Amino acid sequence: MKHRREGFAVSEEVLLEVKDLKMYFENRKGLLGKQIEYVKAVDGVSFTINRGETIGLVGESGCGKSTTGYSIMRLYKPTSGQILYKGVDIASMSPKEVWPYRKNMQMIFQDPYASLNPRMTVADIIGEPIDIYHLYEGKARQERIFELLATVGLGKDHASRYPHEFSGGQRQRVGIARALAVNPEFIVCDEPISALDVSIQAQVVNMLEDLQASLGLTYLFIAHDLSMVRHISKKVGVMYLGSLVEFAETEELYTHTLHPYTKALLSAVPELDPAISKTKKVQMLTGEIPSPINTPPGCKFATRCPHATPRCKEERPEFKEVCPGHYAACHLV
Ligand code: SF4
Repeated sequence: MKHRREGFAVSEEVLLEVKDLKMYFENRKGLLGKQIEYVKAVDGVSFTINRGETIGLVGESGCGKSTTGYSIMRLYKPTSGQILYKGVDIASMSPKEVWPYRKNMQMIFQDPYASLNPRMTVADIIGEPIDIYHLYEGKARQERIFELLATVGLGKDHASRYPHEFSGGQRQRVGIARALAVNPEFIVCDEPISALDVSIQAQVVNMLEDLQASLGLTYLFIAHDLSMVRHISKKVGVMYLGSLVEFAETEELYTHTLHPYTKALLSAVPELDPAISKTKKVQMLTGEIPSPINTPPGCKFATRCPHATPRCKEERPEFKEVCPGHYAACHLV
C-alpha cells in the first residue's frame, strides 16, 4: 500500500462537529403495540472532523457506527444532539431545509451491488445526482460523466454498461464516481471495502486517498478492519454499544491503547510478521453483550471486561480526556 499523498493539507478548520448525538429507534410491543421501548443505536456520540482529514470509526457489528454515519447524512432524523456542518446545526432540520447541505455530503455504501440500480446504466447512475441538482445538461453532462469515470479509473466504454457487467471493485468505483458527481466536501465511507476481495481492498483505499489529496475531501471512514483504518485515518474512534469508548490520533490509539475493549480488538488484528504473530496473544471476549434497549447503569462493557470491578457495574465511566487529544471511558484510566 502506498504512503499518504501530497496535495490538500488537513486544515485546522472544523468542517463537522457532532455533539451528544443520539439515535433511538422506537420498538412497539405488547397487545396492540401499546408498549413502546427504544433501541439506543447511537447513545451520546461526540467528535469533530477538520477539513481534509479522515476520522475512522470502528467497532463490532451492531455497535452503532453505521447508524452514526446515516444520522450525520440525515438519512435518519436524530433523536437528539447536534450535527454542526460548518457551524450550522442540521440535526433538527426538515428534509427540505437539509437538502442544500446534502449536496456537500455524500455517501459510499458497503455493498456496491445493492446500492446500484441494476436496471440503470452506469451513465444514468452517475448522471442521476447531476440531474437532481441541475449541474450539467446535454454534452456537458456527458463530458462530466466521462470525466468522473476517468477519475475512478474506468473508461468511456463503461458508461453504457449495467452494474452486473462489473466486478465488485469496479462497482465500488462506480459508487465512488456517483458520490463525486456533485463535488462534495465530505463523504461518509460506510465499510466501503468490506464486501471486496482482499486484493482489491488496497486499490480502493489508495484511490480514496488519492481523491482526498487531489480534491481536498474529508472522510468519515467506517470499518471493522482496524488495520485498514490505521492506514487511512488521522484519528480513530472506537464504538461499543452505541457509545464512543476511546478516541485519539491514530498512532497514539494504536501504541498507547487505554480501553480494554480497544485492546481486545487490536489483539485480534492479524500480524503479517510471523515472529510477532507467534508470540501475539489474541484476547477472546466472553460474556453477553447487553441489550441496546436496556443498557446497564454502569459501564456497558462490564459484562465482557476482564478488569471489571463492582464499581464498573454501578457507575458509568465518563468519556474524558486522559491525555491531550486522547479520550477514553474507563474507571481504570
Ligand atoms: Fe472494564 Fe470497568 Fe473500564 Fe468498563 S470501566 S472498561 S468494566 S475496567
